[in-house]
Amino acid sequence: MGKRHPNPRLAKIHRNYTVEEVASLLSVHKNTVREWIRRGLPIIDDKRPMLILGRDLVAFLQAKRVKNKQPCKPGEMYCFRCKAPKTPAENMVDYEPQTETLGNLFGICPDCETGMNRRVSLPKLDQVRGKMDITFPQRLQRLVDSNQPTVNSDFR
Ligand SMILES: [Zn+2]
Repeated sequence: MGKRHPNPRLAKIHRNYTVEEVASLLSVHKNTVREWIRRGLPIIDDKRPMLILGRDLVAFLQAKRVKNKQPCKPGEMYCFRCKAPKTPAENMVDYEPQTETLGNLFGICPDCETGMNRRVSLPKLDQVRGKMDITFPQRLQRLVDSNQPTVNSDFR
């Protein structure tokens, strides 16, 4: 239990797996597998019980690993469904603070309209901002505005 980064190589691409089989194969909880399905792990629709193609499982786990390495360039967020970094639709992003210095950026994938998020550190926000137009909660706006001159000088 509790392996954070299951090894994609454990799955065989020519096999099909039930949720239970995936759970025991990768030593994760069944609910974790169901969560993956909600987040875009494909299942074979017309079968009961639900079956997952080994090939899809491998691809999903590999994408998960890539995501953990945060390959996104400035201005990009990772789309789970497209399995690729994307520039959010209209470059519109919301910042949701979690602590004083940490938060999440939320945007929409321009290709599949899935919600995307990216974890960021507020002091390092300018390194990931790119062309994103970030909306901050009211109480943070003043703080951010005071940083604006620095931001602009970096990009113009
Ligand atoms: Zn997408």
